[in-house]
Amino acid sequence: MTTRLRNRFWELPLNQLRPAEWEALCDGCGKCCLNKLEDEETGEIAFTRVACRLLDGETCRCGQYDIRLQFVPECIVLTLKNIGDVAYFMPATCAYRLRFDGQPLPDWHPLLTGDPESVHEAGQSVRGWTVPEFEVPEEDWEDYVIEGDL
Ligand code: SF4
Ligand code: SF4
Repeated sequence: MTTRLRNRFWELPLNQLRPAEWEALCDGCGKCCLNKLEDEETGEIAFTRVACRLLDGETCRCGQYDIRLQFVPECIVLTLKNIGDVAYFMPATCAYRLRFDGQPLPDWHPLLTGDPESVHEAGQSVRGWTVPEFEVPEEDWEDYVIEGDL
């Protein structure tokens, strides 16, 4: 069975996307697989270079995407229902966050370039600069905080 993606489907409102289109919206950056720290007082979110144990730091893909919740139950499965609650702590460039906010996709997005490598070539992915979480104890994550927006 083939699943047809509509022409320029990414310009449609999120609530009009078909399941396969929703999946295809992801740019493959891997930024959402970085561990985050939340300031208890201000609620501010800081991303760290410490990546989820299932993230492949080179491909920026989840090593067990289809069964990831068996290994990482806290992994958030983005849906139309929860995007409103979680968009604020997604990376600023996340395609779901951008479209939720009514913003266009950036010009380096693979859907626009037709090349899955373009997200990496534009320096917008986590390729090559993450550390696996099993190498860094949680109390040291603060040392790996990334300054500024992602
Ligand atoms: S389980 Fe997979 S998709 Fe979820 S945060 Fe980890 S690497 Fe990312
Ligand atoms: S941040 Fe958004 S676009 Fe990037 S990998 Fe995660 S879900 Fe996909």
